Parts: sequence; structure tokens; C-alpha cells
Amino acid sequence: MPAAAFRPATQGSDEPLPARPPDDDPRLRVVAAGAPGHRGAFVLYWPQMQRRARSNAALDLAVAEANARRLPLAVYEALRVDYPYASDRLHAFVLEGARGEAEAYRRRGAEYAFFLPRTPDEARGVLGRLSAQADLIVTDDHPAFVVPGQLRGLARQSACPVWAFDDCTVVPLARLGPEQYAARTIRPRVARQLDAWLRPLAEPTCEAGPASVDWPFTPLDLGALDLAALLPTLPIDHGVPPVVGATGGSGPAHERLAAFVRRKLVQYPEQSHPDDAVTTTLSPYLHFGMIGAREVALAVRDARAPEATRNALLEQLLVRRTLAFNLARENAAHRTFAPVPTWAQKTLREHLADPRPHLYSLAQLEQAATDDIVWNAAQRELRATGVIHNYLRMLWGKGVIAWKKTPEEALDDLLVLNDKWALDGRDPNTYASLLWCFGKHDRPWGPARPIFGTVRYMSTANARKKLRMETYLARWGG
Ligand SMILES: Cc1cc2nc3c(=O)[nH]c(=O)nc-3n(C[C@H](O)[C@H](O)[C@H](O)COP(=O)(O)OP(=O)(O)OC[C@H]3O[C@@H](n4cnc5c(N)ncnc54)[C@H](O)[C@@H]3O)c2cc1C
Repeated sequence: MPAAAFRPATQGSDEPLPARPPDDDPRLRVVAAGAPGHRGAFVLYWPQMQRRARSNAALDLAVAEANARRLPLAVYEALRVDYPYASDRLHAFVLEGARGEAEAYRRRGAEYAFFLPRTPDEARGVLGRLSAQADLIVTDDHPAFVVPGQLRGLARQSACPVWAFDDCTVVPLARLGPEQYAARTIRPRVARQLDAWLRPLAEPTCEAGPASVDWPFTPLDLGALDLAALLPTLPIDHGVPPVVGATGGSGPAHERLAAFVRRKLVQYPEQSHPDDAVTTTLSPYLHFGMIGAREVALAVRDARAPEATRNALLEQLLVRRTLAFNLARENAAHRTFAPVPTWAQKTLREHLADPRPHLYSLAQLEQAATDDIVWNAAQRELRATGVIHNYLRMLWGKGVIAWKKTPEEALDDLLVLNDKWALDGRDPNTYASLLWCFGKHDRPWGPARPIFGTVRYMSTANARKKLRMETYLARWGG
């Protein structure tokens, strides 16, 4: 989305955030109180969306609680086969990430196990059984996809207390008020509070050493992981293959961040040109929590680059991304057409009878079989790499609106395409960005145009004239 100016005026504090925050910390939510009088032998951390052993505030809290209770720490990580769009692509990315992270959890003093169920049934009741052994479960709070349901399920079956901790955005979501309707309303809220929250973490180590856990499953031997042999045995979508050249994990994420800060950041304001490829390429890693927004923001804040350049990146990471998480947290219907503002719904409805240049089925879209070479290129990039260049992603989303009878049908198809093929899909950014194509977080743009009415119109023909994309089209244009 076109960026406005973000000027946070940060002083840049390096004072770490305390690992064990006060009880009224806005990031902490008690999800279950546990059975009265229950005592356990260890504190358990369950990373659901923050799959990393460093710069992870929920893990810091789990370590600090274990130390305060003089208990050891265990980390339980899992990947089910029955979540929507489970595929070779997503399993490979998460499993490679876990392989690189297991040792880092052990260095924090934790016992670590990865559970890879082969069937949906195998996964049932595992956390309940672990809760009977644990004194406390700490897990990630997150407003979208399967996490809210998983938290409700755990709350129903847990013998011990369960705390969910929000480390999604730099400024905690509970500090951003009710649903915000535009970047301009959330921007000052983020800017005002940034100095208090944009700080490194304390990163304590568990003093009692690793826990002794009776794991109710056979932990996956990540050292012997053979994805080529393993993936075909799992009941997941084998039609969406792993992305060549995108290895999951915090190591690869930090390599990308370092390369961005060293070479690309100074050119970031030119990011609209597909041929220049000057963005971080971190969205899949941010989605799976293999790197945190705080780590990226601190690296950019401290980088040698003009202030306006650094702020251009921080606008996307700290304003646009936070706006998306605010939508997911405050609006339960964030995966539907309902959050589209009234003016946009009205104008789109008024143009329902306008002739469409083509009507493409989901299958035609998925196969990149439209008559638009730029759109097809973006779709091919998505299928091959699991992401689309940011500017083209806007054109990709807008394009489908013109090829469906109703905007609701267009949104349904976009959700399938993005959630199925994108490594960074199934994310608050997915839902907010797709809805943006229909007018969410935007304003009316006159004059009214066919099909779109006053919803912002973008055409691939115009983009081709003004952007450098010949190399991109040579690569993905078919
Ligand atoms: C139709 C459409 C669908 C999209 N679907 C997704 C999605 O499924 N997942 C996803 O993470 N992003 C999505 N985006 C937002 C944006 O395109 C990507 O976040 C960005 O292109 C990722 O590339 P990058 O990591 O190199 O971003 P950079 O430009 O390097 O930005 C750094 C980070 O800031 C955040 N960011 C950047 N641009 C935006 C934005 N416009 N809105 C919100 N956050 C932003 C992302 O977390 C990104 O990784 C979508 C945008 C559109 C228009």
C-alpha cells in the first residue's frame, strides 16, 4: 500500500524489557486458571506462532517463571497435519526451522521436543496430558488462523494454569485501542508508545536445567530429518511443493535481515519496482515467528541510513503490519467481506451489473491462465516462491475483483490462492491486505470507475508503463 510518513522520533533505548513483567502487563492473558491445588514438575513453553529461541518475549516469560518457581523448563513444539492448507511447502519450512532451533532452546536451559503427528487423531489430548505434569503452560497469544481455537481447546482441558503472551507486534495489541479504521489513526498510537516497547529482551537462561518430561509421543529426531522421505508419508497437500531457496529458520531469517540492512535498505524507498528487489523478503519468517518484528525494527533503527529511509521500512513493519493485527484482534469477522467499510460495499454493489472483461474460475486463476501477462507473472511467482512482490501483490488482488461476478466471490478466491500458496499466508497481513483491495483501511477515490466504483483502481497496464519490471516479466511472464 502506498506509504505515508512515519516519524516515530524514537530516542533508541537499549534497556532490556524485563523477562518477568508485572501481572497487569498488557501482553499477558490468563487463559486457564488450572485445577485448584494443582502442582507440576516444570514450566512448559508451547511456541505456536513465535517459533524461535531468541528475542522471544513469551519464552523469556516462561524461563523467568521457571526460575522464580525453582523449576526446570520444557519446550513443546508441534506441527499438526490437519490445519487448513497443510502442505509440503509449509511443513518443509517449519520443520527446517525447528531443526535449526532445537539446539538454541537447549542453550536456554530447556528440554526440547518436537511432536509431528501423522494423523489428526494422534494429536488429540497431548497438551492435556502435558498439562497434568506441568506447573504452568506459557504459550503465544495471536489473533488469527488456528491459534484462538487452539487456546480455547487448551483452556478446556488443562490441569495447570495457561498464560498466553502477545509478542506479535512491537507495541502490544492491547495498547492500541479498539479497531482502527486507517493507518492514519493507528500511526500516532504506535509512534507515541514506541520508545517504551522497542527495546531488546533480557533473554534469561533457565537455572534449574532441562526438565524431565514423560512426553506422550515419540519426539521427532530433527537431527536425522529427511524431508524427501518424510513428506510423502504425511496426509497433507503434496501439490504445493517446498520452495527452492527459501529455508525456514531463524538463521536464514537473520542472514536476510543482515543482507537487507547492509545492501538494500538505502534503496528501500524505490521498492515499487519489481526488478529492483530491495525489500527484506522476511514476511514468511515473520509469519512463522522465526524472526520477530522487534528484531527487525531494532536492526533498522540502528542502521546507517537516512532517517526517512529507515522510517519507510518502519512504516510497513510497525504501522501497516500492526494495523493488520489490530483488525484480526478486534474484528472476529476479519476473514470475511464484513469489515469492508460501508462506502466501499455500497459503491461495489452499485457496479455489480457492470460488464466484466472476463470471468475466470478459481482453477484458471490458480493456473495463471488469464489474458493479463503481469497478473499471470505474479501468480507464477506466488506458486514458485510462496510470495509476490509487494507492488504486484496489490495489482494481483485488484485484478481478481474485475474477473468475478461479485466482490465476495473475488475475496473467496483470493483467500484460497493466498492461504494455499503463500508462505506468508494465513496471517493477519493476509486478511487486512486482501480486504484493502476492496477498500478496507482506504478512502474513496474519484471519479467512479466501472466495476470498482470509487474503490481505488490500479491497472497492470499503467504499472507496466511506470515501473521497471522487464526482468521480472522475463522470469515469470511465461
Ligand atoms: C493482495 C495482498 C496480499 C498480501 N498478503 C500478504 C500475506 O499473506 N502475508 C503478508 O505478510 N503480507 C501480505 N501482504 C503485504 C505485503 O505485500 C507483504 O507483507 C510484503 O510484500 C512482504 O515482503 P517483504 O517481507 O519483503 O516486505 P518489506 O517491504 O521488507 O516489509 C517488511 C515487513 O513489513 C510488513 N509489511 C510490508 N508491507 C506491508 C503491508 N502493505 N501491509 C502490512 N504489512 C506489511 C511485512 O511483515 C513485511 O515482511 C499482502 C499485500 C497485498 C496487496
